[in-house]
Amino acid sequence: MSLAKVSGNSKRKSEKHGQAVKKLCSNERTEHEISLSSLPKNMVHLGEGLFVAVNTFQKETRVHIRVYSTDDNGFLHPTKEGVSLKPEVWSSVLSSLRTFPALTEPDAVTVVKKDVCIFNQTGNSQMCVSLQRLFQRKDNSFHLVPERVILRGVQIERLWDSYNRIFTCVKSSLLAYTLKERVNFEIRKYPVDENLDGWDADTPQGFEELRDSLCKCLLDFISRKISVLSKSECIDCKQGFLFNMDVHDCVSFSKKQNFDAYFEKALYNVEWDVLAAKFVKLNIHRPFLRWFQDDLFTEMDTVKFFSKIEEMYLNETPDVSLSCFDL
Ligand SMILES: [Zn+2]
Repeated sequence: MSLAKVSGNSKRKSEKHGQAVKKLCSNERTEHEISLSSLPKNMVHLGEGLFVAVNTFQKETRVHIRVYSTDDNGFLHPTKEGVSLKPEVWSSVLSSLRTFPALTEPDAVTVVKKDVCIFNQTGNSQMCVSLQRLFQRKDNSFHLVPERVILRGVQIERLWDSYNRIFTCVKSSLLAYTLKERVNFEIRKYPVDENLDGWDADTPQGFEELRDSLCKCLLDFISRKISVLSKSECIDCKQGFLFNMDVHDCVSFSKKQNFDAYFEKALYNVEWDVLAAKFVKLNIHRPFLRWFQDDLFTEMDTVKFFSKIEEMYLNETPDVSLSCFDL
């Protein structure tokens, strides 16, 4: 059905392209076939029909916390009871819930990233909260929208427990969907060079060259973001102490400490459009870019890709420029 959506994107590779989309959006395309015993890895059951799931929609990656209903055949279907969150909001909701005074302040309310409200619904000793989406009007006022979901007791604990698995899916989706969609969009801006048509598509090193180039481009964004974040969150810098820089966290933190502290935030701050444009501009002259434009993202081991980013970050020295902008 949604194959029709992608046909026309690429005549030569339309069939292949269709398969790639199928793989990436398996959660949406095979929704009717999902049951509790065959959950895809992007979904975690929090109990009583409530799920956390990583979804892709209109070039973006989202984390849903949503109630699913079960039909007579045991297949799961999403209901309207749920919220769709940007990954950075999902992550902040998890941390906000850890300090939320559910048991001590009956009327507690917290606003997370101007995007979602946490309301206390705790009636007895079991923590219970509702998450409700906020909408910002043009005049900067906020109002609540009907997107809402309730979490109770063990569901909240399971939400925390699902963090690693969901974050792995988020990283994979940001790369293999959010970035991929933008890269393909950028590639279409350049005219096809007929001289490159005779290139032997079976030559494997092209794939690795592109992957390494993508690694460097993303690393460049991540490194810059980490150094901005470490300064902006350094207590001494915030207080305007410019002497004794040696004792600043922004200077004395090891690369490993900086990476662990700021990588996730840095990732959420990457401008994917800009990154895609840089990567395509750097590689458009390579004959294999168009050949690998789908495979690069669907065949890539995203877990290894991010390990590589960390390894390169830790080994990066300030004197050696890895910047993809310097080329
Ligand atoms: Zn500092």
